[in-house]
Amino acid sequence: MCAVQAGFLGKRTLILEKNDKVGAKILISGGGRCNYTNLYSSPKQFISQNEHFSKSAFAQWTVDDTVSFFETYGIEGKEKTLGQLFPVSDKAKDIVKVFTDLCNDLGQEIRCDADVKSIEQTTDGFEVIYEKHGREIKLQTPKVVIAAGGLPIQKMGATDFGLRTARKFGLNIIDTAPALVPLTITGKDQQWYEQLSGNSIFCRVWNDRASFEENILFTHWGLSGPAILQISSYWKAGEFIYIDVLPNENITELIQEEREMNGKKTLLNYLSTIYTRKFAEALSGYLPIEKNLATLSNVDLENIDNLIHYFKVKPAGDKGYDKAEVMRGGVSTDELSSKSLEAKKVPGLYFGGECVDVTGWLGGYNFQWAWASGFVIAQNL
Ligand SMILES: Cc1cc2nc3c(=O)[nH]c(=O)nc-3n(C[C@H](O)[C@H](O)[C@H](O)COP(=O)(O)OP(=O)(O)OC[C@H]3O[C@@H](n4cnc5c(N)ncnc54)[C@H](O)[C@@H]3O)c2cc1C
Repeated sequence: MCAVQAGFLGKRTLILEKNDKVGAKILISGGGRCNYTNLYSSPKQFISQNEHFSKSAFAQWTVDDTVSFFETYGIEGKEKTLGQLFPVSDKAKDIVKVFTDLCNDLGQEIRCDADVKSIEQTTDGFEVIYEKHGREIKLQTPKVVIAAGGLPIQKMGATDFGLRTARKFGLNIIDTAPALVPLTITGKDQQWYEQLSGNSIFCRVWNDRASFEENILFTHWGLSGPAILQISSYWKAGEFIYIDVLPNENITELIQEEREMNGKKTLLNYLSTIYTRKFAEALSGYLPIEKNLATLSNVDLENIDNLIHYFKVKPAGDKGYDKAEVMRGGVSTDELSSKSLEAKKVPGLYFGGECVDVTGWLGGYNFQWAWASGFVIAQNL
């Protein structure tokens, strides 16, 4: 996006990409369909030490700009859920093609298999040293944009290059961690989750920093699904998360209504009308599921209410960078101009995208940040 926008302004850029093709993460994003923006994107869906930092970039490049940019180049969007926009074709490669075609038309050169090893400051700019097919190549440039992504999924080309280079230039890094990542359960509880593997339930998941209403998915090692990925970005090791497995309803009231009509129905049969039978059965360790609704005591009702609306989980950890969709933390926003994303201490050096401490929620927000930061940098090159 940065190279394309720079091209629109008549500025020449050279993209150095260590993979043999560009856009690897775009190609796998959204299950190969690329959720390229979110219609409801606003700075509040982004985590950063400075929650105001992204406002300038998002004012300069809005969601409407993303939508019309892609429409101009033949990508109609369709909303799947919660504002998530995907190409009508359902093909992430169409998004990559927009960029590669435009780079081609605008004369912006893309050099693949070009592994950047270091960037050094010189009297009139920078010396960039990269390796291509085992050969070291040096080039001079007045300005450098680092859009080297975050740490997730090394086999797709992820490196710590952005962080390493920022450190080398004396820029502060906000601690990094996997985000939008499944959470693991170990020990004696693991078996309980394992038996439910594959079950998905619409829930509210929260902690004291955030709350999300989406599905959770049980897996043989713990919890996944959109609501879990979302809360993982706000979770720290050792903390609890809370799950309401029947959000926006009151299980006590529902049971009371039901038992007036069907007092002989067992709790198991009743819960099986709300959840899968498997899930209802799995509650046997916690609730008297064989009891008739009519015979449930007030204490039983209280326990049911607690379990359904305040299920407390202490994850053992997360699945790490191999399974994370993004990295939390990164180059500190204190080090960058919010208007241009230029490093305050190093004129001519810019950081954009995931390597900056701006991390979006699940749902197209991270690409919106990538496009916006690319646009903003291009205006200032
Ligand atoms: C499985 C998965 C699904 C996702 N789905 C979505 C989604 O649907 N919607 C959404 O908004 N976000 C999604 N994301 C997040 C999104 O892909 C990233 O936030 C986004 O790609 C970040 O863009 P970027 O340009 O900063 O970095 P990247 O897209 O990671 O690009 C950085 C590039 O730099 C290259 N590079 C790194 N080091 C060097 C070096 N030393 N020399 C040369 N090149 C180097 C890498 O090879 C890479 O191609 C998903 C992420 C994953 C992992």
